[in-house]
Amino acid sequence: MKSAAAPVLETAPALSGATRVAGVIGDPIAHSLSPVMHNAGYAALAMNRVYVPFRVPAAGLKAALQGVVGLGILGVNITVPHKERAARQLAELSEEARLLGVVNCIVNRDGRLVGDNTDARGLRLDLQRAGARLEGRSVVLIGAGGGAASALLALQREGVGRVYLANRTRARALRLARRFPGLEIEVKRLADLADPRLIAPVAAVINATSIGLQGEPFPALAYDAASEDCLFYDLVYRRETTSFLQPAAARGLAIADGIGMLLGQGVIAFELINGVAAPEPAMRQALWSAVGRV
Ligand code: NAP
Repeated sequence: MKSAAAPVLETAPALSGATRVAGVIGDPIAHSLSPVMHNAGYAALAMNRVYVPFRVPAAGLKAALQGVVGLGILGVNITVPHKERAARQLAELSEEARLLGVVNCIVNRDGRLVGDNTDARGLRLDLQRAGARLEGRSVVLIGAGGGAASALLALQREGVGRVYLANRTRARALRLARRFPGLEIEVKRLADLADPRLIAPVAAVINATSIGLQGEPFPALAYDAASEDCLFYDLVYRRETTSFLQPAAARGLAIADGIGMLLGQGVIAFELINGVAAPEPAMRQALWSAVGRV
């Protein structure tokens, strides 16, 4: 049964004996926007394919992946809570998935499952779209989970000068920093975010924690010290402006939430799974409409 809040397709896809299947594996999954985005892509290209949500509990990943092979499913996106376990279970990983230790997309290549990660590329595209100028500048990144790992890779590729990495659990931030020996990273505490001397010089402040997902308040941060050209970017997205972005928006600073990253990673995943150029405008329109932004 569909939850009341879940976005729905405006038209049901026509299924036939030749219909091929892709999908997304997670738990919970009813809130996922990926089916709306990918099915809009199939509709725009008139492809006889359908993208389905699969609710799979943590212990069920192995059997689900065998099912992907057994049923000839084209590929699947992977979301919470399976991203790290999938990286450990798959024999074949892209260089990016190996580096991050996190898989968010699996392609079925004639029975061989290949794990990839499209989050860093998706975030980088969206940072560029948001007009971020990061080369040689410093950035504050908050969080040390899979999203933060993708953000570090995106920042490295953008050529940032230094990253101040703030996380609740310091040991996790130190562990993450060690995975990026080529990047200048200084580990901070969440309490340091209230220090104007930390915020004043940076080109961007990026939230890669899940704080705000349920509308909860964000820890104290020295918004008033941010420079005029500082971008506030939240990997979290909601219908409403997130608690992390609200004070920055009130000051008139540039803000962006993770809906653009979701689109970016989805476009890349569509191309990996289907082997054709993704119809980005149609996917964007479906996604924006699902979050009430059209
Ligand atoms: P994760 O691996 O579970 O990491 C969660 C992070 O949030 C950790 O840094 C954790 O700190 C921190 N955190 C959670 N609750 C906290 C609290 N109450 N106070 C302080 N810190 C807290 O999750 P993830 O995969 O990195 O995802 C993080 C967020 O990014 C999620 O909201 C996810 O939806 C979003 N995301 C969005 C996209 C997109 O396409 N827009 C892509 C990936 C992720 P500790 O280390 O101390 O536990």
